Amino acid sequence: MKYISTRGQSPALDFSEILLGGLAPDGGLYLPESYPQFTDADLSAMRSMNYRDLAFAILSRLIDDIPAVDLKAIIDKTYRADVYSFVRKRQNAEDITPILKLEDNLYLLNLSNGPTLAFKDLAMQLLGNFFEYVLAKNGETTNILGATSGDTGSAAEYAMRGKKGVCVFMLSPHKKMSRFQTAQMFSLQDDNIFNIAVNGVFDDCQDMVKAVSNDAAFKAKYKIGAVNSINWGRIVAQVVYYFKGYFAVTQNNMQKVSFAVPSGNFGNVCAGHVARMMGLPIDKLVVATNENDVLDDFFKTGVYRPRGSANTYHTSSPSMDISKASNFERFVFDLVGRDSAKVRELWASVDKGGAFDIKYLMPKLAEYGFVSGSSNHANRMQTICETNSKYGVVIDTHTADGLKVALEYREENIPMVVLETALPAKFEDAIAEALGQAPERPTSLKGIEDLLQKFTVMDTDVTAIKDFIAKHS
Ligand SMILES: *Cc1c(COP(=O)(O)O)cnc(C)c1O
Repeated sequence: MKYISTRGQSPALDFSEILLGGLAPDGGLYLPESYPQFTDADLSAMRSMNYRDLAFAILSRLIDDIPAVDLKAIIDKTYRADVYSFVRKRQNAEDITPILKLEDNLYLLNLSNGPTLAFKDLAMQLLGNFFEYVLAKNGETTNILGATSGDTGSAAEYAMRGKKGVCVFMLSPHKKMSRFQTAQMFSLQDDNIFNIAVNGVFDDCQDMVKAVSNDAAFKAKYKIGAVNSINWGRIVAQVVYYFKGYFAVTQNNMQKVSFAVPSGNFGNVCAGHVARMMGLPIDKLVVATNENDVLDDFFKTGVYRPRGSANTYHTSSPSMDISKASNFERFVFDLVGRDSAKVRELWASVDKGGAFDIKYLMPKLAEYGFVSGSSNHANRMQTICETNSKYGVVIDTHTADGLKVALEYREENIPMVVLETALPAKFEDAIAEALGQAPERPTSLKGIEDLLQKFTVMDTDVTAIKDFIAKHS
C-alpha cells in the first residue's frame, strides 16, 4: 500500500516513510492510494474478534511494509486491558472500548479509558510503539516538538515516555491549563520528556513551534518531528474502533449504524469516513462542533470559511476550540473525486486566509453520510444534567456536544453511537458547574496535583527553545 498526497505533487511512499513526518512536501496530507475493501464475509469474520485481532485485521490491510509478525507484536503490546484501566464497566476482561447502552438505539462508545482519560490515547499509544519500532529499525532518533493546551500534549507524553530514540519537547501556556492537566504532564519524571511552560498563550507556543520548524537547517540537524493530528498513523488507529463499535451494536452486516463525533481538527470523524470507505455499513457521520462551528457551517452550506486563531472562542469543551480543521483536506480530496489540482486550488485560498465554496457538491456530501450540528455552553450543561438524571451516567463536556447533536439526527431502527472523547474527571470545573459536584476521580489519580513536577519556564523566545533542544536532545 502506497500513500499519496492530497495535493498530488509528492512521491507515493510506504507507511513507514510517512510515519514520522507531518505534511507531505507539497503541503498536502497523506492518504492510501486506494481504500482496501472489506466484504460481507470479511466483516462476518471480524465480528467476534477482540480489539487486538480486529486492529490487526484492519491495519494489516493498510500497512504492508512492516512484517506481519512485527505489526501484530506492536498492536498486541499497545492494546492491553491494563493500559485502558479507567473503564466504567467492562463487559469482559479484554474490553478496550466498551459500549454503554443509554437506551434503545442510543449508545456511548467509551474511548477514554487510557492513561490520560481521552480518546487520543488509543491512537497516540500505537504511534509511540510505531515510532520506537521504525526508529530502531533505521538506527534513527527524533525530537518531537509540539504545542498543547492540554489533551494532545499529555497523550503524546504518556505515549512516548521511556521510548528509545524519542525525546519530547512540549510547549504549553504557563499557568493556563487546568491544575489537573498540568499535573498530568508535569508530574512525568522520565528523562526523555521535557515540559516547557511558556510565558504566553497557546498561540504563542504554536508560533514558537512553527518558527523552529521553519528553520530547515535546525529541523534537519535535530531531526524535529511532530505527532499532531494530521499524522496518518493516528487516523489509522482510530479506524479500528468504528468497526468495534459497529459490531457491538449490530447482529448482522445488513444493519447500518450512525456515529456522532465531537470534532475539532476533524481527525476522529475522518477515521469514520475511512472506515466507511473500507466497507463498514455506516449510515450517518454526525459532525458535532461547539461554538467554534466552522465545520457545521460547511456541512450545512458547502462553504468552508476557517477563522483565524484570534477569532477562536474559548469554550468549556476546549479540545474542540479549533477554527481550521487540519484533517478536513483529507475528506475534501475524496469529495472532489481525488482531483488533487482541485484540492490545490481550494487550499490556495485557505492558505491565504480565505474561504472556498463547493456548494455544487452538496448532493455528494449526503452520499458520504455527513451531517452536522453545533452546541454551546448552555446546551452542554443541560446535556450533562439530563444524561446524569436520565441514565445515571456522567459525561464530559465534549461528549455532551456530541450527544446533543446526535439527538438531532436519531432515526428509528438505526443505532446512534456517540463517541466518548474524554472522561468527566478531566474537566472537573465544568462538571461541577453542571451537576453541583465534581465527578468522581479514578483512585490512582487522586492527589496527582501534589506530585513533584518537572518543567522549565521560558519566555516566548525562539532562540531559547532552540538552545534548550540542542542542550537536551
Ligand atoms: C482532540 C479532542 C477532540 C477533537 O478531535 P478531532 O480529532 O480533533 O476532531 C474532541 N474531544 C476531545 C476530548 C479531544 O481531546
